[in-house]
Amino acid sequence: MIPPIASNFVAGETVDSALGHVEDLNRRGIGGILNLLGEHYDSYEDAAADTEEYIELVEEISARNLKACISVKPSQLGIDISEELFERNFERIVDAADSFVWLDMEDHTTTDATLDVYEKYARETDGNVGVCVQANLVRTGDDLQRLAHLPGKVRLVKGAYDEPAGIAFTDREKVTQIYRDELEYMFREFDGGIAVGSHDPAIIDHAGELYEQYETPYEIQMLMGVREQAQFELVDQSAGEVYQYIPYGSKWLSYFYRRLRERKENIGFAARAIVSG
Ligand code: FAD
Repeated sequence: MIPPIASNFVAGETVDSALGHVEDLNRRGIGGILNLLGEHYDSYEDAAADTEEYIELVEEISARNLKACISVKPSQLGIDISEELFERNFERIVDAADSFVWLDMEDHTTTDATLDVYEKYARETDGNVGVCVQANLVRTGDDLQRLAHLPGKVRLVKGAYDEPAGIAFTDREKVTQIYRDELEYMFREFDGGIAVGSHDPAIIDHAGELYEQYETPYEIQMLMGVREQAQFELVDQSAGEVYQYIPYGSKWLSYFYRRLRERKENIGFAARAIVSG
């Protein structure tokens, strides 16, 4: 059972609890992006088990008629074992899904394989899949030129992985500047399908200004438990749709610690909740 403090960031351990959270969000105008926690599997069985659960999840999303989609990690579908296994498991999920399917982006060693699989299924499903790209990687400017001509959606994030200096921008301000430039490129060159994956108020404002200039449809995506009040306010205030990325599942502990380590505010928030019981 997940302690109350962790349940700010994780929507329970089961499909049912995660979808219950989505139902609440949908009533408040926010869509859900569900992620079953799990990564870096080195066994076929683990990758197969998560694939099966995602298939159950997309079937339930359709059955309950929810405004929701899923986001999967290549390494939970087996990319560390082989790229073929990752693609096979991804294809099974995409075949079962009426709802949209996102691919999270992991460290740079998986970027090529992830983009190749994305491109194949973006074409085959006529755009029912999306992929995340990271502004901290030097290559992303070129990758966006390739992605601009494909159906599907692209989520731009700053990048969560510590990458080597030769291939990545490591200065946070530089990454934010690159993010702004790349977002402008997307609004200018894409027909739609832009997802702004950021909690940064300046970036969210920048997206709003770019929308006024280019009128390219976009959505805003933030994590469960992070700036939630802003998420609810953006439903009315922003031109873009708002989605919340919702992790769930039994492997919640390491994800929760990552959220705490990431920001002092989260630690303070956790400490206050513990003290107040
Ligand atoms: P930061 O640069 O961390 O912070 C900028 C400003 O935002 C802060 O100064 C503050 O004003 C505000 N802010 C940020 N966090 C908080 C907080 N907890 N509380 C209050 N204010 C805050 N990374 C990947 O590498 N691959 C992925 O597939 C991926 N998917 C993602 C999906 C979504 C929906 C989101 C939101 C992020 C994803 N990320 C992914 C993570 C991303 O790369 C960043 O590490 C993360 O979002 C932090 O960058 P930021 O732009 O949100 O804000």
